[in-house]
Amino acid sequence: MLSFCDLHVHLGRASGKPVKITASSGLTLNRAIDHAEKIKGLNVLGIIDAACDGVLKEFKGLLAEGSLEECPGGGLKTARGLLLIPGSEWEMDIEGTRVHCLAFFPGMGELEAYNSYLREKVRNPGLSTQFLRDGFHKAFSMVGRLGGHPGLAHAFTPFKGYFGQLDSFLPLGEYAKGVDFVELGLSADSTLADRIKELQKIPFLVGSDAHSSPNIAREYLEIDTTVRDFEQLFQIILSGKGIKAFRGFPPALGKYYKTRCRQCGFTPGEDERKNCPRCLKPTLVQGVSNRIEKLSDTEKPSTGRAPYFYHIPLHLLPGFGPKTLDVLYKNLGSEMEIIHNISPEQLERFLDKKRVEMILRLRRGELEIECGGAGSYGKVKK
Ligand SMILES: [Zn+2]
Ligand SMILES: [Zn+2]
Repeated sequence: MLSFCDLHVHLGRASGKPVKITASSGLTLNRAIDHAEKIKGLNVLGIIDAACDGVLKEFKGLLAEGSLEECPGGGLKTARGLLLIPGSEWEMDIEGTRVHCLAFFPGMGELEAYNSYLREKVRNPGLSTQFLRDGFHKAFSMVGRLGGHPGLAHAFTPFKGYFGQLDSFLPLGEYAKGVDFVELGLSADSTLADRIKELQKIPFLVGSDAHSSPNIAREYLEIDTTVRDFEQLFQIILSGKGIKAFRGFPPALGKYYKTRCRQCGFTPGEDERKNCPRCLKPTLVQGVSNRIEKLSDTEKPSTGRAPYFYHIPLHLLPGFGPKTLDVLYKNLGSEMEIIHNISPEQLERFLDKKRVEMILRLRRGELEIECGGAGSYGKVKK
Protein backbone atom coordinates (compact mmCIF):
# COMPACT_ATOMS: atom_id res chain seq x y z
CA MET A 1 0.00 0.00 0.00
CA LEU A 2 1.11 3.53 -0.78
CA SER A 3 0.87 6.33 1.80
CA PHE A 4 0.24 9.94 0.87
CA CYS A 5 1.71 12.33 3.36
CA ASP A 6 1.31 16.13 3.73
CA LEU A 7 3.10 17.43 6.81
CA HIS A 8 2.45 21.17 6.52
CA VAL A 9 -1.16 22.16 7.22
CA HIS A 10 -2.13 25.26 9.24
CA LEU A 11 -5.33 25.90 11.18
CA GLY A 12 -7.41 29.09 11.17
CA ARG A 13 -9.05 28.70 14.59
CA ALA A 14 -8.96 26.46 17.65
CA SER A 15 -10.76 26.54 21.01
CA GLY A 16 -12.69 29.60 19.77
CA LYS A 17 -9.60 31.69 19.06
CA PRO A 18 -7.57 32.55 15.94
CA VAL A 19 -4.43 30.43 15.32
CA LYS A 20 -2.91 31.28 11.94
CA ILE A 21 -4.16 34.77 11.14
CA THR A 22 -3.82 34.35 7.37
CA ALA A 23 -5.55 30.94 7.33
CA SER A 24 -9.24 30.44 6.59
CA SER A 25 -11.23 30.67 9.85
CA GLY A 26 -13.23 27.60 8.76
CA LEU A 27 -10.10 25.46 8.84
CA THR A 28 -10.30 23.85 12.29
CA LEU A 29 -8.59 20.67 13.51
CA ASN A 30 -11.73 18.58 12.94
CA ARG A 31 -12.29 20.13 9.50
CA ALA A 32 -8.70 19.48 8.45
CA ILE A 33 -8.93 15.83 9.55
CA ASP A 34 -12.27 15.37 7.80
CA HIS A 35 -11.08 16.96 4.55
CA ALA A 36 -7.80 15.04 4.54
CA GLU A 37 -9.63 11.73 5.07
CA LYS A 38 -12.70 12.08 2.87
CA ILE A 39 -11.84 14.50 0.06
CA LYS A 40 -8.07 14.36 -0.29
CA GLY A 41 -7.46 10.74 0.68
CA LEU A 42 -4.28 11.41 2.68
CA ASN A 43 -2.78 8.80 5.01
CA VAL A 44 -0.52 11.10 7.04
CA LEU A 45 -1.38 14.68 8.02
CA GLY A 46 1.01 17.09 9.76
CA ILE A 47 -0.77 19.72 11.87
CA ILE A 48 1.88 22.41 11.93
CA ASP A 49 0.09 24.55 14.55
CA ALA A 50 -0.23 21.72 17.09
CA ALA A 51 1.92 23.43 19.74
CA CYS A 52 -0.30 26.54 19.83
CA ASP A 53 -2.33 26.72 23.08
CA GLY A 54 -5.81 26.28 21.59
CA VAL A 55 -4.82 23.48 19.20
CA LEU A 56 -3.01 21.55 21.93
CA LYS A 57 -6.17 21.80 24.02
CA GLU A 58 -8.27 20.40 21.15
CA PHE A 59 -5.81 17.53 20.63
CA LYS A 60 -6.17 16.64 24.31
CA GLY A 61 -9.96 16.83 24.02
CA LEU A 62 -10.01 14.42 21.06
CA LEU A 63 -7.73 12.02 22.95
CA ALA A 64 -9.92 12.17 26.06
CA GLU A 65 -13.11 11.41 24.09
CA GLY A 66 -11.38 8.56 22.24
CA SER A 67 -11.48 10.09 18.72
CA LEU A 68 -7.68 9.99 18.65
CA GLU A 69 -5.25 7.42 19.92
CA GLU A 70 -1.51 7.84 20.51
CA CYS A 71 0.59 5.31 18.59
CA PRO A 72 3.35 3.50 20.56
CA GLY A 73 5.94 4.68 17.98
CA GLY A 74 4.62 8.24 18.03
CA GLY A 75 1.93 10.10 16.14
CA LEU A 76 -1.83 9.93 16.68
CA LYS A 77 -4.39 7.86 14.81
CA THR A 78 -7.98 8.75 14.00
CA ALA A 79 -10.73 6.12 13.94
CA ARG A 80 -10.48 5.98 10.12
CA GLY A 81 -6.73 5.34 10.38
CA LEU A 82 -5.33 8.77 9.42
CA LEU A 83 -1.94 9.28 11.12
CA LEU A 84 -1.58 12.80 12.60
CA ILE A 85 1.88 14.24 13.17
CA PRO A 86 1.95 17.23 15.52
CA GLY A 87 4.30 20.01 14.45
CA SER A 88 5.25 23.64 14.91
CA GLU A 89 6.39 26.49 12.67
CA TRP A 90 8.24 29.53 13.99
CA GLU A 91 10.14 32.54 12.75
CA MET A 92 13.65 33.27 13.95
CA ASP A 93 16.64 35.48 13.29
CA ILE A 94 19.53 33.71 11.55
CA GLU A 95 22.47 35.98 10.77
CA GLY A 96 20.20 39.01 10.55
CA THR A 97 17.59 37.40 8.31
CA ARG A 98 14.08 36.36 9.37
CA VAL A 99 13.64 32.68 8.56
CA HIS A 100 10.76 30.20 9.02
CA CYS A 101 11.57 26.83 10.61
CA LEU A 102 9.52 23.68 11.23
CA ALA A 103 9.60 20.89 13.78
CA PHE A 104 7.67 17.64 14.27
CA PHE A 105 7.09 15.86 17.59
CA PRO A 106 6.29 12.23 18.45
CA GLY A 107 3.53 12.72 21.01
CA MET A 108 1.49 14.79 23.43
CA GLY A 109 4.05 14.77 26.25
CA GLU A 110 6.77 16.19 23.99
CA LEU A 111 4.33 18.65 22.44
CA GLU A 112 3.35 19.94 25.87
CA ALA A 113 6.99 20.33 26.88
CA TYR A 114 7.61 22.27 23.69
CA ASN A 115 4.54 24.43 24.33
CA SER A 116 5.98 25.36 27.77
CA TYR A 117 9.23 26.39 26.04
CA LEU A 118 7.25 28.48 23.51
CA ARG A 119 5.41 30.23 26.34
CA GLU A 120 8.72 31.69 27.48
CA LYS A 121 10.08 32.49 24.04
CA VAL A 122 7.21 33.94 21.98
CA ARG A 123 4.84 36.84 22.57
CA ASN A 124 1.60 34.93 21.92
CA PRO A 125 1.74 31.13 22.33
CA GLY A 126 -1.84 30.90 20.99
CA LEU A 127 -0.78 32.06 17.51
CA SER A 128 1.07 30.23 14.75
CA THR A 129 4.52 31.05 13.35
CA GLN A 130 5.48 33.52 16.08
CA PHE A 131 8.91 35.12 16.35
CA LEU A 132 11.02 32.94 18.66
CA ARG A 133 13.43 34.80 20.91
CA ASP A 134 16.17 32.16 20.96
CA GLY A 135 19.26 31.21 18.98
CA PHE A 136 19.25 28.69 16.13
CA HIS A 137 21.33 26.05 17.92
CA LYS A 138 19.38 26.34 21.19
CA ALA A 139 16.00 26.01 19.51
CA PHE A 140 17.04 23.17 17.21
CA SER A 141 18.70 21.14 19.96
CA MET A 142 15.65 21.72 22.17
CA VAL A 143 13.51 20.00 19.53
CA GLY A 144 16.05 17.17 19.25
CA ARG A 145 16.07 16.62 23.03
CA LEU A 146 12.30 16.17 22.89
CA GLY A 147 12.67 13.41 20.30
CA GLY A 148 11.47 15.74 17.53
CA HIS A 149 12.91 16.67 14.14
CA PRO A 150 13.63 20.30 13.17
CA GLY A 151 14.30 21.74 9.72
CA LEU A 152 13.89 24.72 7.42
CA ALA A 153 10.45 25.70 6.10
CA HIS A 154 9.76 26.60 2.42
CA ALA A 155 13.48 27.26 2.06
CA PHE A 156 13.38 28.91 -1.37
CA THR A 157 10.44 31.28 -1.13
CA PRO A 158 11.33 35.00 -0.99
CA PHE A 159 8.96 35.26 1.99
CA LYS A 160 11.03 34.10 5.00
CA GLY A 161 12.74 31.20 3.23
CA TYR A 162 16.39 30.60 4.25
CA PHE A 163 17.70 30.66 0.68
CA GLY A 164 14.90 32.75 -0.75
CA GLN A 165 15.73 36.25 0.42
CA LEU A 166 17.82 38.64 -1.61
CA ASP A 167 20.27 39.42 1.16
CA SER A 168 20.64 35.85 2.43
CA PHE A 169 22.58 33.90 -0.14
CA LEU A 170 24.57 32.40 2.70
CA PRO A 171 25.47 28.74 2.63
CA LEU A 172 24.12 26.64 5.49
CA GLY A 173 27.67 25.84 6.59
CA GLU A 174 27.72 24.92 10.28
CA TYR A 175 23.92 25.21 10.48
CA ALA A 176 23.60 22.17 8.21
CA LYS A 177 24.46 19.90 11.16
CA GLY A 178 21.31 20.78 13.11
CA VAL A 179 18.98 20.70 10.13
CA ASP A 180 17.20 17.34 9.77
CA PHE A 181 15.39 18.29 6.56
CA VAL A 182 14.83 21.13 4.14
CA GLU A 183 11.27 21.77 2.98
CA LEU A 184 11.47 23.02 -0.59
CA GLY A 185 8.40 25.27 -0.84
CA LEU A 186 6.08 25.78 -3.78
CA SER A 187 8.53 27.53 -6.10
CA ALA A 188 11.34 24.95 -6.05
CA ASP A 189 11.77 21.26 -6.81
CA SER A 190 14.52 18.79 -5.93
CA THR A 191 16.35 19.17 -9.26
CA LEU A 192 16.72 22.91 -8.61
CA ALA A 193 17.64 22.53 -4.93
CA ASP A 194 20.18 19.78 -5.63
CA ARG A 195 22.20 22.26 -7.67
CA ILE A 196 23.50 23.44 -4.30
CA LYS A 197 26.12 20.93 -3.23
CA GLU A 198 25.61 21.10 0.56
CA LEU A 199 21.89 20.36 0.05
CA GLN A 200 22.61 17.09 -1.73
CA LYS A 201 23.36 15.60 1.70
CA ILE A 202 20.18 16.85 3.39
CA PRO A 203 16.79 15.10 3.23
CA PHE A 204 14.09 17.05 1.41
CA LEU A 205 10.48 17.46 2.39
CA VAL A 206 7.53 18.75 0.42
CA GLY A 207 4.37 19.98 2.14
CA SER A 208 1.39 22.04 1.09
CA ASP A 209 1.68 24.95 3.59
CA ALA A 210 -2.12 24.91 3.33
CA HIS A 211 -4.05 27.84 4.80
CA SER A 212 -7.41 26.49 3.53
CA SER A 213 -8.97 23.04 2.99
CA PRO A 214 -8.69 22.88 -0.83
CA ASN A 215 -4.94 23.48 -0.64
CA ILE A 216 -4.33 20.48 1.64
CA ALA A 217 -2.19 17.97 -0.30
CA ARG A 218 -1.18 20.46 -3.01
CA GLU A 219 2.30 19.05 -2.25
CA TYR A 220 2.90 15.65 -0.63
CA LEU A 221 5.22 12.71 -0.20
CA GLU A 222 4.33 9.40 -1.79
CA ILE A 223 5.64 6.64 0.45
CA ASP A 224 6.10 3.02 -0.57
CA THR A 225 4.43 1.44 2.43
CA THR A 226 1.61 1.92 4.94
CA VAL A 227 3.11 4.32 7.48
CA ARG A 228 2.53 3.02 10.99
CA ASP A 229 3.85 5.78 13.23
CA PHE A 230 6.12 8.82 13.72
CA GLU A 231 9.27 6.73 14.15
CA GLN A 232 8.85 4.85 10.90
CA LEU A 233 7.85 8.01 9.01
CA PHE A 234 11.03 9.83 9.99
CA GLN A 235 13.18 6.81 9.34
CA ILE A 236 11.86 7.00 5.79
CA ILE A 237 12.17 10.78 5.45
CA LEU A 238 15.68 10.98 6.93
CA SER A 239 17.11 8.01 5.02
CA GLY A 240 15.17 8.73 1.83
CA LYS A 241 14.60 4.97 1.59
CA GLY A 242 10.92 4.27 1.06
CA ILE A 243 10.02 7.62 -0.48
CA LYS A 244 8.55 6.69 -3.84
CA ALA A 245 8.13 10.26 -5.09
CA PHE A 246 8.00 13.89 -4.13
CA ARG A 247 4.82 15.35 -5.58
CA GLY A 248 4.68 19.10 -5.79
CA PHE A 249 3.87 22.22 -7.74
CA PRO A 250 5.80 22.70 -10.93
CA PRO A 251 8.10 25.54 -9.80
CA ALA A 252 6.85 27.61 -12.74
CA LEU A 253 3.36 27.51 -11.23
CA GLY A 254 4.58 29.07 -7.97
CA LYS A 255 4.31 32.79 -7.25
CA TYR A 256 8.01 33.54 -7.43
CA TYR A 257 9.60 31.38 -10.08
CA LYS A 258 10.75 33.97 -12.62
CA THR A 259 12.11 37.40 -11.83
CA ARG A 260 9.30 39.72 -12.83
CA CYS A 261 8.32 43.37 -12.48
CA ARG A 262 5.45 43.90 -10.07
CA GLN A 263 4.53 47.14 -11.87
CA CYS A 264 4.56 46.29 -15.58
CA GLY A 265 4.86 42.48 -15.64
CA PHE A 266 8.10 42.46 -17.64
CA THR A 267 10.24 39.29 -17.26
CA PRO A 268 13.86 40.26 -17.82
CA GLY A 269 15.63 36.89 -17.99
CA GLU A 270 18.69 36.43 -15.80
CA ASP A 271 18.74 39.96 -14.42
CA GLU A 272 19.90 40.69 -10.84
CA ARG A 273 19.10 44.41 -10.80
CA LYS A 274 16.46 46.00 -8.56
CA ASN A 275 15.04 48.32 -11.25
CA CYS A 276 12.93 47.03 -14.10
CA PRO A 277 14.76 47.53 -17.41
CA ARG A 278 11.44 48.36 -19.11
CA CYS A 279 9.51 50.69 -16.77
CA LEU A 280 12.65 51.66 -14.74
CA LYS A 281 10.82 51.41 -11.38
CA PRO A 282 12.48 49.56 -8.45
CA THR A 283 9.76 46.89 -8.59
CA LEU A 284 11.61 43.86 -9.88
CA VAL A 285 10.82 40.78 -7.73
CA GLN A 286 13.68 38.27 -7.83
CA GLY A 287 12.59 34.80 -8.91
CA VAL A 288 13.59 31.46 -7.42
CA SER A 289 15.18 30.33 -10.70
CA ASN A 290 17.58 33.30 -10.61
CA ARG A 291 18.42 32.74 -6.95
CA ILE A 292 19.28 29.12 -7.54
CA GLU A 293 21.33 30.11 -10.59
CA LYS A 294 23.30 32.40 -8.31
CA LEU A 295 23.74 29.84 -5.49
CA SER A 296 24.40 26.83 -7.70
CA ASP A 297 27.83 25.25 -7.27
CA THR A 298 27.31 21.86 -8.92
CA GLU A 299 25.89 20.48 -12.14
CA LYS A 300 26.23 16.90 -10.92
CA PRO A 301 22.79 15.48 -10.13
CA SER A 302 22.41 14.04 -6.62
CA THR A 303 22.10 10.29 -6.33
CA GLY A 304 19.56 8.30 -4.40
CA ARG A 305 16.89 10.99 -4.24
CA ALA A 306 13.34 9.86 -5.12
CA PRO A 307 11.96 11.42 -8.31
CA TYR A 308 10.03 14.68 -8.15
CA PHE A 309 6.73 14.60 -10.04
CA TYR A 310 4.76 17.71 -10.79
CA HIS A 311 1.39 17.74 -9.07
CA ILE A 312 -1.52 20.17 -9.20
CA PRO A 313 -4.66 19.68 -7.09
CA LEU A 314 -7.74 18.96 -9.20
CA HIS A 315 -9.47 22.26 -8.35
CA LEU A 316 -6.67 24.18 -10.08
CA LEU A 317 -7.04 22.33 -13.38
CA PRO A 318 -9.01 24.15 -16.07
CA GLY A 319 -12.51 22.66 -16.44
CA PHE A 320 -12.70 21.18 -12.92
CA GLY A 321 -15.25 23.40 -11.14
CA PRO A 322 -16.95 22.58 -7.80
CA LYS A 323 -19.87 20.72 -9.47
CA THR A 324 -17.59 18.45 -11.48
CA LEU A 325 -15.46 17.73 -8.42
CA ASP A 326 -18.53 16.89 -6.32
CA VAL A 327 -19.60 14.30 -8.88
CA LEU A 328 -16.09 12.80 -9.01
CA TYR A 329 -15.65 12.57 -5.23
CA LYS A 330 -19.12 11.12 -4.78
CA ASN A 331 -18.67 8.43 -7.45
CA LEU A 332 -14.96 7.68 -7.67
CA GLY A 333 -13.48 8.45 -4.25
CA SER A 334 -10.86 10.87 -2.95
CA GLU A 335 -8.53 13.14 -4.91
CA MET A 336 -5.57 10.77 -4.36
CA GLU A 337 -7.71 7.87 -5.55
CA ILE A 338 -8.73 9.78 -8.71
CA ILE A 339 -5.21 11.01 -9.46
CA HIS A 340 -3.43 7.70 -8.83
CA ASN A 341 -5.76 4.74 -9.20
CA ILE A 342 -9.01 5.22 -11.11
CA SER A 343 -8.85 3.71 -14.61
CA PRO A 344 -9.33 5.93 -17.71
CA GLU A 345 -12.50 3.98 -18.55
CA GLN A 346 -14.02 4.81 -15.17
CA LEU A 347 -12.99 8.46 -15.49
CA GLU A 348 -14.71 8.59 -18.88
CA ARG A 349 -18.03 7.79 -17.25
CA PHE A 350 -18.00 11.26 -15.68
CA LEU A 351 -15.60 13.37 -17.76
CA ASP A 352 -15.12 14.24 -21.43
CA LYS A 353 -11.99 13.00 -23.23
CA LYS A 354 -10.13 16.29 -22.81
CA ARG A 355 -10.45 16.29 -19.02
CA VAL A 356 -9.63 12.59 -18.73
CA GLU A 357 -6.48 13.29 -20.74
CA MET A 358 -5.65 16.12 -18.34
CA ILE A 359 -5.83 13.76 -15.31
CA LEU A 360 -3.65 11.23 -17.10
CA ARG A 361 -1.12 13.96 -17.92
CA LEU A 362 -1.22 15.03 -14.25
CA ARG A 363 -0.59 11.39 -13.26
CA ARG A 364 2.53 11.35 -15.47
CA GLY A 365 3.65 14.86 -14.43
CA GLU A 366 3.25 16.20 -17.96
CA LEU A 367 1.05 19.28 -17.62
CA GLU A 368 2.15 22.46 -19.40
CA ILE A 369 2.49 25.61 -17.34
CA GLU A 370 2.45 29.36 -17.92
CA CYS A 371 5.12 30.80 -15.61
CA GLY A 372 4.25 32.65 -12.38
CA GLY A 373 6.22 35.54 -10.85
CA ALA A 374 6.11 38.76 -8.76
CA GLY A 375 3.53 37.25 -6.38
CA SER A 376 1.10 35.82 -8.99
CA TYR A 377 0.65 32.09 -9.47
CA GLY A 378 1.30 30.56 -12.88
CA LYS A 379 -1.46 28.80 -14.81
CA VAL A 380 -2.05 25.36 -16.25
CA LYS A 381 -2.31 25.64 -20.04
CA LYS A 382 -5.61 24.36 -21.45
ZN1 LIG B 1 6.19 29.91 6.75
ZN1 LIG C 1 3.55 27.37 7.02
